[in-house]
Amino acid sequence: MSKTEKLKLTIAIDGPAASGKSTTARQVAQILNYLYIDTGAMYRALTLEVLNRRIPEKNEDEVVKVAKEVNIQLVPGVKGPRTILDGVDVSEEIRLPEVTHIISTISAYKEVREIMKLKQRELAKNGGVVMDGRDIGTVVLPQADVKIFMDACVDDRADRRVKELKEKSIPVDRENIKEDIIQRDLIDSTRDVAPLKPAKDAIIVDTSNLTIADQVQKVIDIVNDLL
Ligand code: C5P
Repeated sequence: MSKTEKLKLTIAIDGPAASGKSTTARQVAQILNYLYIDTGAMYRALTLEVLNRRIPEKNEDEVVKVAKEVNIQLVPGVKGPRTILDGVDVSEEIRLPEVTHIISTISAYKEVREIMKLKQRELAKNGGVVMDGRDIGTVVLPQADVKIFMDACVDDRADRRVKELKEKSIPVDRENIKEDIIQRDLIDSTRDVAPLKPAKDAIIVDTSNLTIADQVQKVIDIVNDLL
């Protein structure tokens, strides 16, 4: 068993849309043999259920009701982590543009965030986790051992998201994707509750000119420095 496995550190990775944090977090978790928790997938699953029930995203009371009712699980799978919504694997559906388009409205609701925060803390309570999102270092796990904030210019992030979606055979329009990222970042960073921002003690990693392998190595180096 490696030193990091024994120590069961808590690693928080935050950043704006398509900054490469999820891919990095997943690979870092694999290397350290830690649990990977994609909090964006949890908000996405809730958003999908709101769409499935045809509830308008502006109807806060109904959205909160759904958040209280749904059962969202993140489970390991052969092709990476899977998102299970009330027993159904929705890992692909939650990435659809319809979900992405309205998710920031839903994620801004105070009660929704409170429910998610409790679930996320429960998942991280034993340590040995890499959790990624927008408010992990600031709100969900303010005591995390390592806090990283990944950022990159919007054009690089749009290019990355286009590549990712094409690989999944989801039809894309780059300008729409870029506009969506800009809008989402704006809502995520200006909301009243748990806005997207680096924690005071976060290490900022600019991923603009980095490959995924570089990003992963950077995080591993940060973890090793800490030990
Ligand atoms: O990480 P991902 O891009 O999948 O997140 C989708 C959306 O979920 C974000 O734009 C944000 O509105 C919301 N989110 C959040 N807090 C988190 C994770 C995601 O508000 N911790």
